[in-house]
Amino acid sequence: MKASGRLQRIPPYAFARLERQIAAKRAAGVDVISLGIGDPDRPTPPLIVEAMQEAVSEPETHRYPSNRGRADFRGAVRDFYERRFDVSLDPEREIMPAIGAKEAIFNVSLAFLDGGDFALAADPGYPVYTGGPWLAGAEPVLMALEPEQGFAPDLAAIDDEVARRAKLMFLNYPNNPTGAIVPEGLFERVVEFARAYEILVVHDNSYSEITFDGYRAPSFLATPGAKEVGIEIFSLSKGYNMTGWRCAVAVGNAEALEIYWRLKTNIDSGLFEAVQLAGIAALSPETDAEVASMRELYLRRRDLVCEALRAIGVQVRPPRATIYVWAPVPEGFSGSEAYCAHVLEHAAVVLSPGAIYGPAGEGWFRISLTTPDARLLEAVHRLGALAA
Ligand SMILES: *Cc1c(COP(=O)(O)O)cnc(C)c1O
Repeated sequence: MKASGRLQRIPPYAFARLERQIAAKRAAGVDVISLGIGDPDRPTPPLIVEAMQEAVSEPETHRYPSNRGRADFRGAVRDFYERRFDVSLDPEREIMPAIGAKEAIFNVSLAFLDGGDFALAADPGYPVYTGGPWLAGAEPVLMALEPEQGFAPDLAAIDDEVARRAKLMFLNYPNNPTGAIVPEGLFERVVEFARAYEILVVHDNSYSEITFDGYRAPSFLATPGAKEVGIEIFSLSKGYNMTGWRCAVAVGNAEALEIYWRLKTNIDSGLFEAVQLAGIAALSPETDAEVASMRELYLRRRDLVCEALRAIGVQVRPPRATIYVWAPVPEGFSGSEAYCAHVLEHAAVVLSPGAIYGPAGEGWFRISLTTPDARLLEAVHRLGALAA
């Protein structure tokens, strides 16, 4: 059996070797603590679960949903964007449900890219920014996020010829894996750039609700002109502890969303209506208090991890958003994979090597804060003992 050429071009999952090592250690009875994956450990808030329970017992939710989604769901998204981001959306043309941000990012690639096209992708970045274009037969072109520039890409450094062939640009703030918030003026520069080269900007907004120290993350669409050049994908996965539910929306440029919808009608059959009804509960102001308490939880864990890292000499800057701490690999290791393998071997703690998020991630590692406090504390103690 042979995979398609498109599939073969996607590099083997970088975590695969690490996963085999973890499995072997666990089989040998070692208590491995994983700080690798970003998947909230806390349950979905009860308000949302109850809305789902009620919705799922209604037979009207059991049938094929439309790809455009329920009017009340789109209305809830409009209200949320107005209330939270001060962004006005037309629920008829500027809001489309998605079966998770991952689906939307991949399908947008398929909807807009032909063979030979380029897609500009943040590096380090979520792997679908490269996997999507590859599967669409196009070429991802990496834009390194510069730590000295607050993890902004240097748009001026993008070759003119490359920019002309680029159809899409994938960006993500607050950022996974770096935890960076959008640098001042970046969204404005992106709008200008996208206009000049006729590029569709795809802003992945998966972390706007998880912010600290008084920071409130903006929507890309709040930038003047953004709606003419871009769409934003807002996921409920991380902010509402709903990764398993598969609930997101694509919002923004109506023409782009129409094309995305056309593709989706050929590929999937929409977002389960009961999940849309649960999404309405999630986006209502009644859930704000739950989200605020999650922010407090991650803030406490962030400080715990940053303090422990500093105590062992790792120069880390506490992130102002997301569920990740991004830190430089200590000296004396050949790279991020070597360091993470060393930590797994000697401390039985799993970290994500920065290199798996792209070449610009080399020299860094990521800690996910989605582990219960006691285990996180234990992991941090082990790192300390390892350095001593
Ligand atoms: C987790 C994550 C996603 C996936 O979101 P889903 O809605 O669960 O598919 C997308 N983008 C980034 C940057 C993420 O970290």
